[in-house]
Amino acid sequence: MILSTYHTFQSVFCCCCCTVQKRAVTTQVSLEDNADLMDEYPLSERQSSYPSSNIYRVNRTVGVPSRRKPPPPPPADEEDGEEVRVIALYEFCAQEPTDLSVRRYEEYIILQKHDPHWWKARDKDGNEGFIPSNYVTEKKSINLEAFEWYCKNITRNKAEQLLRQEGKEGAFIVRDSSQQGIYTVSVFTRAGGDQNGSVRHYHIKQTQASQRQYYVAEKHLFDTIHELIEYHEHNAAGLITRFRYPVGLMGRCIPATAGFSYEKWEINTSELTFMKELGSGQFGMVRLGKWRATHKVAIKTVFEGSMSEEDFIEEAKVMMRLSHPNLVQLYGVCTQQKPICIVTEFMENGCLLNYLRQRQGRVSKDVLLGICEDVCEGMAYLERNHFIHRDLAARNCLVSDKNVVKVSDFGMARYVLDDEYTSSTGSKFPVKWSPPEVFHFSKFSSKSDVWSFGVMMWEVFTEGRMPFENKSNAEVVDEISRGERLYRPSHASPVVFQIMYSCWHEKPDGRPSFHELLDSINEVAVNDHT
Ligand code: ADP
Repeated sequence: MILSTYHTFQSVFCCCCCTVQKRAVTTQVSLEDNADLMDEYPLSERQSSYPSSNIYRVNRTVGVPSRRKPPPPPPADEEDGEEVRVIALYEFCAQEPTDLSVRRYEEYIILQKHDPHWWKARDKDGNEGFIPSNYVTEKKSINLEAFEWYCKNITRNKAEQLLRQEGKEGAFIVRDSSQQGIYTVSVFTRAGGDQNGSVRHYHIKQTQASQRQYYVAEKHLFDTIHELIEYHEHNAAGLITRFRYPVGLMGRCIPATAGFSYEKWEINTSELTFMKELGSGQFGMVRLGKWRATHKVAIKTVFEGSMSEEDFIEEAKVMMRLSHPNLVQLYGVCTQQKPICIVTEFMENGCLLNYLRQRQGRVSKDVLLGICEDVCEGMAYLERNHFIHRDLAARNCLVSDKNVVKVSDFGMARYVLDDEYTSSTGSKFPVKWSPPEVFHFSKFSSKSDVWSFGVMMWEVFTEGRMPFENKSNAEVVDEISRGERLYRPSHASPVVFQIMYSCWHEKPDGRPSFHELLDSINEVAVNDHT
């Protein structure tokens, strides 16, 4: 299997690594709202939401004082000889002697990037160790990632959902616009007496003059985006409201690390505390638990005889290295005693199927599309890494406390020891989620996952109905083979239905990739066709 380093800078909110600098140069757009009034706020009300006049000042004051002068550090081990400096976005507490603790806004030198998820780093006191690569961002003259109001690559639809969830006047996000190279500020307001509130989107424009400056309100020009934001945190200056509350993903949810520590997949059972039952599945009981009394985890105790354990344990080392904000993270396995346990990220809101059923009639179409977008992001990551899920369905997705949907149980179908589940004629085989080449020839691929994704979209837009209702598996095989497909759910617009329908092309090559599906879903969200 090929594992790419593609997402190492994405942290929790992005899936692309284009540099901010590159995009800033091409930033020129029109203002979406009229902005010519001035609305000054008294100094006493002023509070800056971002690391005050830049993160580098915080950097100097937060560090642990060193008692003695550290020896001069050896040069960094970078192939091109250039020292890579990063800034921490989150706190990380060293779990093993080989780790290095990381403090938010502090600066580190990267010494080695052999593992895409765990980089060897040095802090300012000369201490060295491994740090999670998704907890840091490269230090550049312009890098918005360190600001809590910036959500790289979040879509317009997702931004609106986040701001509405916050529901506070002036809640705002800065995001990459759907037009490449442009930034947008999205802000929530109840101005004009709209009790439900609305979200306004302002493009950040740049002047055409030789010394380019940023603005959203024409009379107020700034050299940097963070100066612009700081100004509008205190002054509406013609905008619908001033930017009062930064609503970034940073600080709201700390991303999972690929395992608890560098190259650590074996977890000692004595370090686990078992708490309440969460449910039971194909392999056994799932419980909420804690690792080393601090980290909340889900612990799956595997019933003896339900899994080909040796094969799974080997593969677990590979699966741990799959790390993405829309995948349920595998933290490790306990294999030293029976029954073996699988330790994963804990998802407060449980399985997606129940989540949908419990909220019937209360979830907007935008949110339903947002769920599909989350799953599609996770699946596009698996596709990029040539990893096939084999059993994608709403029951195998989980929902976090922040309502982020993540794909779970990827690749696990290969280790099930139950003919009823593994044989395509077995009663537990997911025929209703399978394309013809799977139920006829067991031919799995990313394109068979795409078929399942279409069915999962259908589950989402019917708020958790059973596909093909009470038809038997044999009847479904017959129907699909005759070219029949699932009907359009009433909550799905024709455009949304077209997307799910495209997943059900008889031939794998006729179906879109997850990458293409993601573009289609984003387009629907931007054009408001939900
Ligand atoms: P299955 O084998 O049927 O896919 P699982 O064994 O993965 O089911 O999970 C059974 C149930 O346990 C799920 O439906 C869910 O409610 C709960 N569960 C599983 N994993 C987690 C988790 N990481 N966080 C929270 N709940 C979980």
